[in-house]
Amino acid sequence: MARVTVWNEFLHEKRNDEVKAIYPDGIHAVIAGFLRGAGHEVGTATLEMPEHGLTAEVLEQTDVLIWWGHMAHDKVDDAVVNRVRDRVLEGMGLIVLHSGHASKIFQALMGTDTWNLRWYHSDTYERVWVVDKSHRIAQGLDDCFVIPQDEVYGEHFGIPEPEHLVFITWFPGGEVFRSGCCFHRGAGKIFYFQPGHETFPIYHQSEVQTVIKNAVDWARPASINKVTYTTGNVTLMEEDA
Ligand code: ZN
Repeated sequence: MARVTVWNEFLHEKRNDEVKAIYPDGIHAVIAGFLRGAGHEVGTATLEMPEHGLTAEVLEQTDVLIWWGHMAHDKVDDAVVNRVRDRVLEGMGLIVLHSGHASKIFQALMGTDTWNLRWYHSDTYERVWVVDKSHRIAQGLDDCFVIPQDEVYGEHFGIPEPEHLVFITWFPGGEVFRSGCCFHRGAGKIFYFQPGHETFPIYHQSEVQTVIKNAVDWARPASINKVTYTTGNVTLMEEDA
């Protein structure tokens, strides 16, 4: 069991009937639902809550934070971004979904122009290929799975070189995309997963739920992981040094 907080911007669902029909209680409610079904203790937080629902207390009680945002990345307060960043460095796992690639927090942790990718509206299918069968996040999946409809994300994607690549997505337009990428920052693990445009029922799909459940298991901190930083004036460990 991990303590998971699902953060969702929660604006498309209020403003767009097409999205509301798919996610009447918000994308976060669907993700929280299947994670609770997997035995996790799950809370949710949204942009319009005070401090976006990510108070120091909430983050202190969070093993893995899931992030979905799109139209209001710039509305996320820098103080909250810094607080999330600090918790990741301490060991909290972070799972960034779909358009969260352009979020402040993902850019802060990657240090590159992660918003930069080939992109266009589409309702075509995509094929998500497993490129590391041994990885924890790929367990329970076939060689590939199809998502019936999604928009297109293609290379080049402005991320630093992933430490581990779990998935590559192929699109009928010829694009390919590094769609499942693992990173470490400080003591924290970060997973980026591309599928999830809000006008399609992608988070209702079983393979996608398997990936996110696996990612929570992978990203949750080990029990001994708290990092303390010491700068200068340390006591030498060896007397003769
Ligand atoms: Zn999208």
